[in-house]
Amino acid sequence: MQWAKESLDKLESSRLTRLNQSAHLPDSEEADAILRKYHPDYLGHIRQVNVGPNAGDQKFPLELAQLLEGNSPIEKDYNPIPEIETDVLIIGGGGAGAAAALTLHGKGLSVHLATKLRLGDSNTVMAEGGIQSAIGPDDSPRRHFADALVGGHGDNDPNLLRILCEQGPESIRWLSQLGCLFDQNEDGSFRLRGGGGTSVPRVLACRDYTGLEIMRVLKDAVRLTDTQLLEEHVAMELVDDGNSRVTGAILFDRNAGKKICVSARAVILATGGSGQIRLQGFPTSNHIGATGDGLVLAYRQGCRLINLDSYQYHPSGACYPEALAGQLVTEAIRSIGAQVVNSEGVHFINEMAYRDVLAGAIIREIADGRGIKTPHGKEGIWLDTPMIDLKNGEGALARQFPGLIHRFERYGIDPAKQPILIYPTLHYQNGGIRVDTECRTDVDGLWASGEVTGGLHGKNRLMGNSLLDITVFGRRAALSVIDNLPERGTVTLTNLKKFRAEQEKTGSETVSPKFFPDASGMKLEVKKSEENAKSDTKSAGFEPRNPFNF
Ligand SMILES: Cc1cc2nc3c(=O)[nH]c(=O)nc-3n(C[C@H](O)[C@H](O)[C@H](O)COP(=O)(O)OP(=O)(O)OC[C@H]3O[C@@H](n4cnc5c(N)ncnc54)[C@H](O)[C@@H]3O)c2cc1C
Repeated sequence: MQWAKESLDKLESSRLTRLNQSAHLPDSEEADAILRKYHPDYLGHIRQVNVGPNAGDQKFPLELAQLLEGNSPIEKDYNPIPEIETDVLIIGGGGAGAAAALTLHGKGLSVHLATKLRLGDSNTVMAEGGIQSAIGPDDSPRRHFADALVGGHGDNDPNLLRILCEQGPESIRWLSQLGCLFDQNEDGSFRLRGGGGTSVPRVLACRDYTGLEIMRVLKDAVRLTDTQLLEEHVAMELVDDGNSRVTGAILFDRNAGKKICVSARAVILATGGSGQIRLQGFPTSNHIGATGDGLVLAYRQGCRLINLDSYQYHPSGACYPEALAGQLVTEAIRSIGAQVVNSEGVHFINEMAYRDVLAGAIIREIADGRGIKTPHGKEGIWLDTPMIDLKNGEGALARQFPGLIHRFERYGIDPAKQPILIYPTLHYQNGGIRVDTECRTDVDGLWASGEVTGGLHGKNRLMGNSLLDITVFGRRAALSVIDNLPERGTVTLTNLKKFRAEQEKTGSETVSPKFFPDASGMKLEVKKSEENAKSDTKSAGFEPRNPFNF
């Protein structure tokens, strides 16, 4: 990184002075000022929508508002004739969907799990830093609750949050019994790390690939159940019984290149987040399927959405090399000593400030001319990773964060010896579909869990609470379905027709959901040879572009 030599020299010459000094943690007034001036949520890129259950009230990011007001890709004369009948249709093959499938197993119900890509291709598998659970000696669910409520700016649904915190220890037991290998101390107890906003160490991890390990055990376990897997099946629309109740979905089978209608007594939406809609052009840490489809589908059925003016921009997204732009550098790295340092070698804020405040402070440094420019014209600030070995002994970084080393070393950067450049990355959808404590949405027949839902995390999720969310509420949605399973209903597109009547008045020509990010070039395309493709003019076969040419 010769291009940044001047700034690197300043950083290195201040390192020993910074070693035992902690940086300033903004008080609430200062934090508020940073958020209002610099955080992307506060910059006015939001508007109301003109259609659906939220019309005329709360605001949404512009890119999401456009999708919510969009029209369905389903042809107006499409006749939904079910080819599959099941008791429960789970949509989404990440952690929440898999946890639901496992809980439904053995209950005498037929279960289908449809997912856009393969089972496990999801945000869950990408999670790095860990999962929170109040199992430490000085900890309690009450303390966990208090930390998350403060972190969420008090906007969390207290009933959902109480369940999350109380179910933490049991969830860790469940995951461990499935075979999840959380890191342990030498005495065999679970190793607990701190995280931004945790008042005691509470984060369990599997090095820096916690989500990969959790998804590994969930996926293996699901494959041993009777769950019928519909991989590469994209949910295009939900169907209803003509009386508002959801009774299934229209899927797109990407391999056959055709639609397929599923009749279900209950549907669990577990489609995850929407980082790939790239609000304000931000890079994202999210997987390629995170395009907010579940929000659009549920909205058309009449579900209210909440807190979606609030997204999480993770402070430490990679900014250089260009090929890694947006990828996550886990917060756990900051929790064990990596400092955030500007171009002048100044440790300008405590790195364990809340994620939103830290992201705002990084953007402020850059706006005020204290960022470091990359050869590609981006700007970031330093994350002083060599500090970890200085503080924790040689080899500590490599031992605890092998994934980080692996990603950067192929570009000739050794984070144990050189700092890395970071910039906030669009990471998490704080809001989502409104649900009750049983994961029921506003619409009968439709349950939701995981990142697609809103309320639990308020307006700022703490690290580690999402992996717990999907474990607790993925299972909870399934339990509620078992207790409240409706009778089979007819399959119509009445809800969609009602939505369309309203939608057409907006004049919007957008077709949504998005299904795949624009830059991927991926689309749902009907195979023209298929009989049922005759009326489809918009879509045809799936041709991924060379992923290295994004
Ligand atoms: C890089 C990264 C690191 C993270 N680190 C942490 C961490 O350390 N700790 C923590 O608590 N949280 C972390 N998170 C957040 C956490 O991983 C996610 O919020 C959580 O795993 C979401 O789980 P989910 O099951 O709700 O969604 P996902 O795991 O994203 O699963 C959604 C599934 O739905 C499928 N899908 C989407 N649309 C459709 C459709 N139309 N039809 C059919 N299927 C569809 C997707 O393909 C996917 O399989 C991280 C997230 C990322 C991206």
